[in-house]
Amino acid sequence: RAKGTGRGRATQFTMDQEAGLRERRQLEEDLRQALASGQLSLVFQPKFVIATGLLKGCEALLRWHHPERGMISPGLFIPVAEETGLIHPITQLVLDQACRQAMAWRAQGLEVPVAVNLSAGHFGAEQGVGLVREALEATGCDPALLEVEVTEGVFLRSAEAATRSFETLRKMGVRVALDDFGTGYSSLGYLQHLPFDVIKVDRTFIAGLEDAGPAGAGPAGAGPAGAGPGSPGTGRRIVDAIVRLAHGLGAEVVAEGVETPAQLATLRQLGCDRAQGFLLGRPMQPHALVELARAELLAADRNVA
Ligand code: C2E
Ligand code: MG
Ligand code: MG
Ligand code: MG
Repeated sequence: RAKGTGRGRATQFTMDQEAGLRERRQLEEDLRQALASGQLSLVFQPKFVIATGLLKGCEALLRWHHPERGMISPGLFIPVAEETGLIHPITQLVLDQACRQAMAWRAQGLEVPVAVNLSAGHFGAEQGVGLVREALEATGCDPALLEVEVTEGVFLRSAEAATRSFETLRKMGVRVALDDFGTGYSSLGYLQHLPFDVIKVDRTFIAGLEDAGPAGAGPAGAGPAGAGPGSPGTGRRIVDAIVRLAHGLGAEVVAEGVETPAQLATLRQLGCDRAQGFLLGRPMQPHALVELARAELLAADRNVA
């Protein structure tokens, strides 16, 4: 009867849970090891001004080279780090390396501000500000070379603490970006109280720019002038609205996950400020970014001559 099936399912569930727990515990142990033995490093993804094509800033992205498992995605290990508290020393490491890199580039004559991703958890208790301040002091980095990216998740914990934190950071001269905009569950109300320098449009919206509307959405011409939700062009209208909203609030707009020339062309038409994505540059080693910037400077010189 159903009883047997139920028990079987329960047993299966417990086994899966156990396997999941073991896997997590192993990942946590390995991550501790990784932190101690230098398996964590940063790659840098360039951002470009859409109107000029010039490189302006980059994002530091964490990479874990596991000795046996190879590359492990931050999407997998950052959540574990957040649950176990390892995110604190990891963020220290990321901020420290990002600051040193930006200063090293400046010493080579390249002005490339670096954006660092900070976990929402750092801002419930305003630890984020302390971490940033320590990194700036320890490295002697110019705050103008540092930007932080936070997600809408910061408002779910404590909107007040987050607001105070961001005001302090901006007073210190560090720019604050709202990452993955549009994917969170919070309301637009927080934008009113929070002065962001940059709003990053999540790449799901950029991917949606080319949507010709869902297949089988009904006969053509159904709905008022094709302007209904899910009709052709909806993706474009959403990004258009986000760009206007951001500009209205005095923030710069960065599109993330730009993969095709058509997406870039549309973003240019919509007045989006900067773009980041595989079309323009993958996350790369620091020397590769230097080469990119130098090639660009040479091209600019040629155009002037
Ligand atoms: P994110 O901050 O939204 O970073 C952008 C992610 O999109 C990166 O993935 C990047 O490699 C990827 N990406 C960039 N351009 C494209 C594109 O054109 N197409 C596609 N499909 N993907 C693109 P990555 O490096 O795997 O990072 C994933 C997430 O992990 C980040 O999302 C960020 O939330 C988190 N993360 C990465 N590094 C750190 C870190 O140092 N600290 C914290 N707290 N989180 C981090
Ligand atoms: Mg980011
Ligand atoms: Mg993002
Ligand atoms: Mg994202």
